[in-house]
Amino acid sequence: MADCYSVMSDIGSIPGVGPKKKERLDAMGIHTLADLLFHFPVRYRDRRKAVGSSYAPEDKDVLVKGVLLRKSSRRLSGRKSIVECVLKDSSGTFSAVFFSMPYIMNTLNIGTEYAVFGKMKRRNGLAVWTNPEIAVLGSEADQRGILPVYRCTKGISSKELIKYVNYALNCVDDGYDWLDSALVEENKLCSRKYALQNIHFPQGENEYKYAKFRLSYDELLMYQLAIRMRRRELEDASADASIDDLPIDDFISALPFTLTEGQRAAIDDIDRDLIARRPMNRLVQGDVGCGKTVVAEAAIYKLAKAGLQSAYMAPTEILAKQHYKKLQSDFEKFGISVALLTSGTRSAERRNILEGLASGAVDVIVGTHALISDDVQYACLGLVITDEQHRFGVNQRKNLVRKGRAVNVMVMSATPIPRTLGATVFGDMDFSIIRNKPANRLPIITKAVDASSRARAYASARAELEKGNKVYVVAPSIDSEDENLTSVENLYRELNSRFKEYKPALIHGRMSGTEKERIMQSFAKGDVQMLVATVVIEVGIDVPEATLIIIENSERFGLAQLHQLRGRVGRSERQSYCYLVNYSRNQNAIDRANAMVRLQDGFELSEEDYRLRGPGDLMGTMQHGSFHNRILTLCRNEKLLEAAIRDADRILEDDSLKIDWDEVRMHISADSNTDNSDII
Ligand code: ADP
Ligand code: MG
Repeated sequence: MADCYSVMSDIGSIPGVGPKKKERLDAMGIHTLADLLFHFPVRYRDRRKAVGSSYAPEDKDVLVKGVLLRKSSRRLSGRKSIVECVLKDSSGTFSAVFFSMPYIMNTLNIGTEYAVFGKMKRRNGLAVWTNPEIAVLGSEADQRGILPVYRCTKGISSKELIKYVNYALNCVDDGYDWLDSALVEENKLCSRKYALQNIHFPQGENEYKYAKFRLSYDELLMYQLAIRMRRRELEDASADASIDDLPIDDFISALPFTLTEGQRAAIDDIDRDLIARRPMNRLVQGDVGCGKTVVAEAAIYKLAKAGLQSAYMAPTEILAKQHYKKLQSDFEKFGISVALLTSGTRSAERRNILEGLASGAVDVIVGTHALISDDVQYACLGLVITDEQHRFGVNQRKNLVRKGRAVNVMVMSATPIPRTLGATVFGDMDFSIIRNKPANRLPIITKAVDASSRARAYASARAELEKGNKVYVVAPSIDSEDENLTSVENLYRELNSRFKEYKPALIHGRMSGTEKERIMQSFAKGDVQMLVATVVIEVGIDVPEATLIIIENSERFGLAQLHQLRGRVGRSERQSYCYLVNYSRNQNAIDRANAMVRLQDGFELSEEDYRLRGPGDLMGTMQHGSFHNRILTLCRNEKLLEAAIRDADRILEDDSLKIDWDEVRMHISADSNTDNSDII
């Protein structure tokens, strides 16, 4: 590669790196000089200038220099020993003590001036450095500057790494840059070599910032390029995924409502994807209750008309059953056959369904994760939909390609993602965003109450129940030892006696699938009007007659979760309510409750979440699994990410912008060692 042949050379070429050292470096994932250059310091030691010992701050690494006045050594108990030194600089005297380093006694000379570096504590007014680094002033060991500290391994010290990195830096070609100079100028970047030098050995704070900015940009840009590259490769490798462009008007006109603008636009996007040769890879994002299911149905309908099968994957068994029922009742009149396959499906039935899929008798299969596993054979699978799941990995997608014809993929998510984060996590997907809910929806009236005003929530629940509406009551745990925590079992006991006439029922994750199914069914039918639940009802459950939800111990839930839970109501034209029962005085819990009261929109709530918790956590809630760690921190710089996204698109469109693709490949393949293959 152009980054001078030499940085690609083996670390064995570094003077002083023999087979032993090489083995250890290899174990750290450092094989080439380039690897070494991208093994960034974990922190730095500021050894730029010495300060007067009497002005030195406590508990911070600080450099002082002083003439050695006295030294003494003593034995402590056992095999321990102590060497005590008194030194003097122009601001006064100070002390340096060394534990269990008896040999140091003989290396230090009275009257010599030393540089002492480390953390200081004052004892009885005397500044004392314990086990500091000590070196004769001006000697080779008395290094100056901001020095890196590396993550090391046994047998390789930070000092050795410093030496190796220095050697590697000298091998970097001054004139080389993997990036077109136009992009370097536009983004006001420093040169690659300058960046590498200053990330390891910063000249000063500003130089460090320039270096970090440059390397962050590079990393984000490479990541965006890699996503695009892999997507192209996958598309090029895949077979034809196009399906016949048959109209679906009969399905649309049979719906009991008119589509919202967002639903219509999403269906149009999907239509276009489906008739194209390249496989669809689309994320349909829309807030809870915006009506994503019907968008999925439209796609399935189009496939079925063209004689192709669809698989619909839900994250939980409850949801799979709900969707199965819905699809079955919506498609029956069109002669489209729908089947359900979950871990609970009995073996005889399972065999039947598998046969139906293999023969093509089953058009639509609904289930949990296993629908695309190897033992499920399809006659002609053309579409896979995942609902309320955040990702659909590359490996899963490859699995689909192996099943014969290219398969279209559609992911539905209610998690509102800031655009830039979305571009990182879902960078290889097209987006359709449904921004509005059906027009007949009223905002959900949300109230925060505490222990003293909790009764108001239940009075309001009673009023709804009397009107014939349904109510959810949610608590964080099933059976809790913790008296501060409401358990659904206790809550159920309480509510069962207070609301007997509305037949409260209990549902939680420890129940069997059939038990849960039975209870959900009776709640949907109306035999049960009050459902006491854990977060098993969090995603996707659609019971339009539910108009009130009480969330006990709301302080235990994150904003995204509260919003999901609240989304269980407000699913019809009726006025709905949400009560958050907060038992904590924790400021963050109060902030979250207030945000819920103030904001209805999932997107705004996620921005608030982002503000309250930072993006790291937000990504955590997206269950991204393994993800290149550095990117997480870099994501905080949204502007830079915007620039990287823009430039990645430009590089692919504009032939005059040149980059060194070898360098991109090198970094990305290094990344794949840390297994982010699931995400891009
Ligand atoms: P989500 O996007 O949360 O998955 P659903 O697809 O479950 O939402 O839809 C929520 C409810 O809204 C369902 O009962 C559905 O029938 C209804 N619905 C969907 N689209 C419309 C529409 N355009 N007008 C009125 N109601 C709709
Ligand atoms: Mg849904």
